[in-house]
Amino acid sequence: MKKKNTNLTRREFIKDLFHKLLLLLLGSFVVSRFFKSAAAGYVWQIDPKKCVKCGRCATACVLTPSAVKCVHAFEICGYCNLCFGYFQPGALRLTADAENQLCPTGALQRRFVEDPFFEYTINEALCIGCGKCVKGCNLFGNGSLYLQVRHDRCKHCNECSIARVCAGRAFVRTPARKATFKNA
Ligand code: SF4
Ligand code: SF4
Ligand code: SF4
Repeated sequence: MKKKNTNLTRREFIKDLFHKLLLLLLGSFVVSRFFKSAAAGYVWQIDPKKCVKCGRCATACVLTPSAVKCVHAFEICGYCNLCFGYFQPGALRLTADAENQLCPTGALQRRFVEDPFFEYTINEALCIGCGKCVKGCNLFGNGSLYLQVRHDRCKHCNECSIARVCAGRAFVRTPARKATFKNA
């Protein structure tokens, strides 16, 4: 009889311990979610109209490569054969050979669609946010390429180190729910 009571007490003790552990786990989950959502409450964005393509997005971010990437507004792209964001000025041939490309990392990729159209996509893993393609596209093309902070990569620094040196004062901090620029 005595042995049975000891077993019960032990079982109750384990059950109690299990409940406390569960509560502790739940508590830390809620706390971590709270801090995560608080940190994600505000985001840094680039206003593409103000960006002067100074190149600092590639060099001033706390991350390497930068959290800023080139993004493409396909709806305003001309799908041009001669893309000024893709080709070096004065490229001898309109081919994908490395010497003809403006992008230093091969991140901007060209795909034939149908005569005479080509599609341009960005491999974000290769993009360093230098803005060279953006400059070319905005000078002579439709301006469909632009730079933007990618929020899945950005550390959401309180003081963005690119914003401090941005030549166009193009960085804005905005509540995440109010983020308006495309691909934000
Ligand atoms: S030129 Fe620069 S910004 Fe454009 S895709 Fe290449 S690395 Fe990215
Ligand atoms: S907030 Fe930080 S991680 Fe994000 S773009 Fe600016 S410097 Fe880079
Ligand atoms: S630092 Fe500012 S002006 Fe320079 S490329 Fe980035 S967003 Fe554009």
